[in-house]
Amino acid sequence: MADYIPELAKAEPDYLGVAICTTTGHVYSAGDAEVEFTLQSVSKPFAYALALQELGLDAVREIVGMEPSGEAFNELSLNRYDHRPVNPMINAGAIAVTQLINGVDSDPAERVEQLRSYFSRLAGRELKIDEKVRDSELQVSDRNLSLAHMLRNYDIIQDEAHDAVSTYVEQCSIKVTVRDLAVMSATLANGGTQPVTGEKILDADVCRLTLSVMSSAGMYDGAGRWMAEVGIPAKSGVSGGLLGTLPGQLGVATFSPRLNKEGNSVRGVDALTLLSKDMGLHLMSTDERYGVHPVRRMETEDDLTVIFLQGLINFNAAETILHQLTECEFGEGTVVLELSHITGSNRMGRRMLKEGLRRIREAGFDIAIVDPDGELEDRTMADGTEVPKGEPEDYALSEEAV
Ligand code: GLN
Repeated sequence: MADYIPELAKAEPDYLGVAICTTTGHVYSAGDAEVEFTLQSVSKPFAYALALQELGLDAVREIVGMEPSGEAFNELSLNRYDHRPVNPMINAGAIAVTQLINGVDSDPAERVEQLRSYFSRLAGRELKIDEKVRDSELQVSDRNLSLAHMLRNYDIIQDEAHDAVSTYVEQCSIKVTVRDLAVMSATLANGGTQPVTGEKILDADVCRLTLSVMSSAGMYDGAGRWMAEVGIPAKSGVSGGLLGTLPGQLGVATFSPRLNKEGNSVRGVDALTLLSKDMGLHLMSTDERYGVHPVRRMETEDDLTVIFLQGLINFNAAETILHQLTECEFGEGTVVLELSHITGSNRMGRRMLKEGLRRIREAGFDIAIVDPDGELEDRTMADGTEVPKGEPEDYALSEEAV
């Protein structure tokens, strides 16, 4: 167990808790899921997200990079050329990031409160600081103090080294359960909307950036192997917490205090490795887990062809649809895209569908869409004309369509 912080060495080593929260806000947990422990480094991606949210990427990038370091979490390391810490997941970067919260001129106590209340919103309940763990770590902070002095020396932070470290240590000492962690992680997975309370806390862009950095640097010197073997962007902490985030799907968290030599929870690593394998969660998996074929079916009657789409219409789905259309020999008449069964779309998917329709019209057909949920809100095509909208009943060729 982490014994360099005396209070952490007193924790019960046998605790084991696991929790999952889906982006729909369903939480499942097992084992010691109600035991509180301190966030420690698991706080780092969230503090980074808050800094990005408050100041934007350009300002944050001035003081911290986005490259994996492949080093231990407490490495005394800054980038050789501009002296920024290489990423916000190692201590040097995290201490720098914390000093941005609530504005660089913020009083340390207000900064801590800003962080505590933000973490509480992420968890969906009031979180407290573990004062014993905080005081214990402050007694042994020479290494973090040396990092803070180094950061001050290069003008990366303005705060006194002692204030910088104590703010950072307070952030690390916020108490959570694995359930909280799973929900917090699911908020990142869900583009910043807390899936249980429904509160919009972070922008989707901020979540994307945070998860990207987590995926390359979250597991310190074990980050590369972790991504290959487990494939879930993750962040560990020395108190034994570990969280993983699958964008658009779920947050998962474990708690078990014994650590491996990289400072990651031994049983947490095992649990996530197993879950990833058993549940097919690897982010780089090429299994067909992106679900359904986007063309549900095509129906033709006289001079009317209706193409029923389904699932998520992104670039990949739109390409499949348009490719299939180019291979069809329509007679003449009307071609209709039926969107009643789609689950969503992104900008590229919508743009491609509209361009496909425009070209079908160009080839001499009438076109229309059936779009009861208004997914194609902007129906203007590249030539400035609008895609005509039809009612489901108008084009319901078979029973199932209505
Ligand atoms: N507060 C701890 C430290 O700075 C956090 C380290 C960690 O969890 N990896 O040493």
